[in-house]
Amino acid sequence: MMYLVRLIAGIFLTACLTASAHAAGGKVTDPNSAAPDRYAYYPGTEELGPDEMRVVACGTGMPSARHGQAATFGAHSMGNVASLMIPYDYLDKVFISHLHTDHWGDLSSLWAGGWTAGRSSPLKVWGPSGSTPEMGTKYAVEHFLKAYNWDYQTRVGALADGPGQIEVTEFDYKGENHVVYDNNGVVVRAWPAIHSGDGSVSYALEWNGYKFVFGGDSFPNKWFIKYAKDADLAIHECFHLPEQMVKMYNQAPPVALYVATKIHTSPQAFGKIMSTIKPKHAVAYHFFNEEETRYEIYAGVRETYDGPLSMATDLMTWNITRDGIRERMATVTEEAWSVDGPVPAPNNEKGDNPNKWMSKEILSGAWDVRDAEGRMIKEYMEKFKLDPKMFAPKE
Ligand SMILES: [Zn+2]
Ligand SMILES: [Zn+2]
Repeated sequence: MMYLVRLIAGIFLTACLTASAHAAGGKVTDPNSAAPDRYAYYPGTEELGPDEMRVVACGTGMPSARHGQAATFGAHSMGNVASLMIPYDYLDKVFISHLHTDHWGDLSSLWAGGWTAGRSSPLKVWGPSGSTPEMGTKYAVEHFLKAYNWDYQTRVGALADGPGQIEVTEFDYKGENHVVYDNNGVVVRAWPAIHSGDGSVSYALEWNGYKFVFGGDSFPNKWFIKYAKDADLAIHECFHLPEQMVKMYNQAPPVALYVATKIHTSPQAFGKIMSTIKPKHAVAYHFFNEEETRYEIYAGVRETYDGPLSMATDLMTWNITRDGIRERMATVTEEAWSVDGPVPAPNNEKGDNPNKWMSKEILSGAWDVRDAEGRMIKEYMEKFKLDPKMFAPKE
């Protein structure tokens, strides 16, 4: 889940096509006036109140890719983030819950995509240690950059170096409710989760008297019960029923039972957690949310919890105010571009030669298209007052 105030926590910051009839409401008395109420959230059109927190789910699904529902911060989740049209300068902080690909796989899109689309400073990543250094976030991010060396090296000549860097802060996964971030009135705390291997954590984000909790993948654990108490919005995984995993996810019955009830949290157990911590509003995620599945999962939760509940899907949006919590769906454009932020994208301050990774042998295969594009380039260079020497052929 990712969000708001320059923070991407794991990605619930957060497609859905809401019918246009649901787009606006209230009484309209003039054919040219705007509707006074909105059932849908249109990104970029609502100023956040000084006393208001907004959370948008940008990935709520499963590790296997699906066109209609992204993994938490894995496949397609950055498509949802980008549809919110938040300048990349404000998407510079990521809090990773654990290192399964469905929870950090789209870091590649945020890192390189944000770099090419105007982020002006390094990306900053927080995440837990592991039972050995090789199982921790620092190792993962350092080796992520090694794996993407070709990407980095071939862009850094044309793009400034700084925004292509990642600053990583690894913290102890065993820390209990410890502060891992404290700046500008925003405090982020972490505590352990129980999932597959040591090194999954849950987060709380506290700001202005509000508390927002994001549970990392976990079997129900005593730390969540203790530290997620008093949450306004409490998000916790709520996994598929084992039988759904057999029927729809091609898992063998023993595997499905193990996965659904030993390394994840069943709907019934999710309900027990929420009945115990009693958040103002509970959010269930980490299941493919569709007609075939949602009613059985919902019924499972309702066996043990009767409080306020969202069955999350992508682009579900919550506005938290003193008056309460409002759930809506965001209505986004399929064709969003990145939006310019307050800091101009820097030029490459190093002045590296962008062509240094292209050999004479390969460059000698270039086909002459100057007659085709020459006029367009000349007009462009005049318009932006560029020095023609900049693109003069180099020997
Ligand atoms: Zn996981
Ligand atoms: Zn997961």
